Amino acid sequence: MEPGRNSFFALNLETCGYHQDTASDPIILSSPNPHIILSSHHSVLQTNIILLCVSLISFYKPCPMQLEDIQHLTDTAVADIAAAADETALEAARVRYLGRKGKLPDIMAALKTAAPEQRPQYGQAANQFKTRVGEALDARKSALAATATPANALDVTRPGDLPPLGSIHPIRQIIGRVTEIFDRIGFTVATGPDIDSVFNNFDALNTPADHPSRDPQDTFYLEDGSLLRCHTSPVQVRHMLKHPPPVRIIAPGRAYRRDTPDATHSANFHQVEGLYVDKKVSMADLKSDLTYFAGEVLGPGAKARFRPHFFPFTEPSVEVDFTCHVCKGKGCRVCKNSGWIEIAGAGMVDPNVFQAVNYDPDAVTGYAFGMGLERIAMILLEIDDIRRLYDNDVRFLRQFA
Ligand SMILES: [Zn+2]
Repeated sequence: MEPGRNSFFALNLETCGYHQDTASDPIILSSPNPHIILSSHHSVLQTNIILLCVSLISFYKPCPMQLEDIQHLTDTAVADIAAAADETALEAARVRYLGRKGKLPDIMAALKTAAPEQRPQYGQAANQFKTRVGEALDARKSALAATATPANALDVTRPGDLPPLGSIHPIRQIIGRVTEIFDRIGFTVATGPDIDSVFNNFDALNTPADHPSRDPQDTFYLEDGSLLRCHTSPVQVRHMLKHPPPVRIIAPGRAYRRDTPDATHSANFHQVEGLYVDKKVSMADLKSDLTYFAGEVLGPGAKARFRPHFFPFTEPSVEVDFTCHVCKGKGCRVCKNSGWIEIAGAGMVDPNVFQAVNYDPDAVTGYAFGMGLERIAMILLEIDDIRRLYDNDVRFLRQFA
């Protein structure tokens, strides 16, 4: 063995309590347990194995603390405690230095194993450690308490709580879409009150006195003789009474009927009515405008179909179907295999209506149409029950935000 090479390890091992018994060959390193002996009689491999074993033993059995280590540790601990950011960090520091598995037990162990003549110095260093660490803990605790925010303090730098943002209701979205489409072909929006007169709601619209819709079982009458309008057509009457022809308006709004709510009926609902009055307005204008609307609202290729019908306020009257949005006209469950879905009622304005609003039926003609907005919303947004539109369940409404 080469003594020079191994003396390096011997020196290192000495700091961990191993002693070189003699400087001469064989080099003998001894320790309390186990005795390690290195000599020139060992091969290089044997020497290395022995040194590895020594290192492992040293690793699992830490070196006792030296006096300078305790003093250095005291300074480190004081600085560490002073830097504790909050009470949690401070408690962690206390455990780290004074806890059962902390540094203090190591210091006490060093005191026990110190040479008798060094024990007073070790004792003094240990006491100093305890005193200074204790003082540092108290000082930091007071400092943290002084700067702590009171429980009810107002923190003006904290980001505010944003109230949840609402969204436009599906019905309002549809009104906006329908209005925008008709705006492009020259219609303006007219509005009227939900409570209206019998004249505006029925009489002026050529509704006979015995018409079933006038029955209190169908219409909500108020004590003063007025009513909740059962369609938005009174807006047309109001508008024509105030404005001479030509007229080109749509009237979106709420209407009321005595309906028992189910998947497709509600006692209050929304309609949009259209009215175009001018010289020589014909059925061709009605077909053209509603076909344009069908394509705009349901997409390219959607068509409108007109079937004869009866309404008191139009003559002739039609019901208007649009191409089924689901099967594109091929026939499906939604359209009951017809390829069409019913959307609107329409027709040429009855001359009696013009007379009621002081228009000359020989000078002007016009068309009118009306359609349910809930129906369009249910088609476009694929809603299966009209009541969902009125339940105000934000989980449902949020889908259409
Ligand atoms: Zn279909």
